[in-house]
Amino acid sequence: MARILVTGGAGYIGSHTCVELLNAGYEVIVFDNLSNSSEESLRRVQILTGESLVFIKGDIRNQHELNQVFDDYQIDAVIHFAGLKAVGESQQIPLTYFDHNITGSIQLIKAMEKAGVFKLVFSSSATVYGEHNPSPYNEEMPLSMPNNNYGYTKLIVEQLLQKLSQADQRWSIGLLRYFNPVGAHKSGQIGEDPQGIPNNLMPYVTQVAVGRREKLSIFGHDYPTKDGTCERDFIHVVDLAKAHVFAVINRLKQTGCRAWNIGTGMPISVLQIKETFEKVNCVAIPTTFVERRAGDLAAFYADATRAEQELGWKPQYSLEDMLADSWNWQKQNPNGYN
Ligand code: NAD
Ligand code: UDP
Repeated sequence: MARILVTGGAGYIGSHTCVELLNAGYEVIVFDNLSNSSEESLRRVQILTGESLVFIKGDIRNQHELNQVFDDYQIDAVIHFAGLKAVGESQQIPLTYFDHNITGSIQLIKAMEKAGVFKLVFSSSATVYGEHNPSPYNEEMPLSMPNNNYGYTKLIVEQLLQKLSQADQRWSIGLLRYFNPVGAHKSGQIGEDPQGIPNNLMPYVTQVAVGRREKLSIFGHDYPTKDGTCERDFIHVVDLAKAHVFAVINRLKQTGCRAWNIGTGMPISVLQIKETFEKVNCVAIPTTFVERRAGDLAAFYADATRAEQELGWKPQYSLEDMLADSWNWQKQNPNGYN
């Protein structure tokens, strides 16, 4: 079975992907600097699967550390999650974001080329569709400039990977454009563990539910949507993790560069998240409506038919599953991995 290098594998999506890779019989090597994660997630991944993985602590910006991994292990393909992801922070420290997300990706590609490894699956984001495309987004739409530096790094890396594969036929690259990942492994043993005050909706909701935050602020309720709050395409993290396994299988057989949307295609409003969470989990979420958050789009959701047609991937989990599993993780781990 193939051996997969997973950069950022200790993080939220990476750890769930490690579970799916190990369950599917792959060998897994995780390379992560633990700047936003804990080795505990990997310990739990191994308990959950009954399989072992190799963990290497290192930074994707460090060429020497990366080269060493490829010297030490015969790698068949790389899934590249490592990077920084906080939109607000990317506005304050853009250079740090360019360094981790763009320079780090280039260093990784250089190490891969040196080692003769040309199969790559990259964590992109729906943010590359920018502000001007109408939902549902499909992969044929022209990309446009995201309104923040984090999104900009995703667009740049996508574009340089496209150029690379056009110039050198040996590359086979998959760009997975995630919509809004939520949920956790059914066991409640691994999940999202944001540091500090969460920026994203779902961890904020679960932290209110567990009593770590007083109340949820819903940003804006005068949007042109069914209930006035923003609509997003929430996708269960286990479905998202499985999409990576399908993408690796595809890339091991194909060449070129191909993008796939990874979402459910169902617009779900922020208010619907709050109300469904309360109903499914029998917990109250005290809520207040506040001003819109700068930069938010009213609605974005996927046309995910290409992933189904070309990868054979289809989401299995419902909104209720996403919310029950998020809560199960938070309840069992009120302070995350700490
Ligand atoms: P995460 O922060 O939980 O995981 C990222 C991992 O990368 C962490 O374990 C962190 O320690 C590691 N890392 C960061 N910089 C590194 C570096 N320089 N060298 C080595 N390791 C480094 O985030 P996540 O939610 O699991 O996201 C994974 C990927 O998916 C990221 O690239 C993110 O931008 C992308 N993505 C996430 C979302 C989302 O909503 N979570 C949406 C779209 C795209
Ligand atoms: N949101 C909110 N309150 C919060 C966090 C988020 O109302 O505390 C809203 C936000 O305005 C957006 C949606 O929830 O409409 C999803 O936001 P998130 O940051 O999770 O993901 P984004 O879609 O911005 O990537």
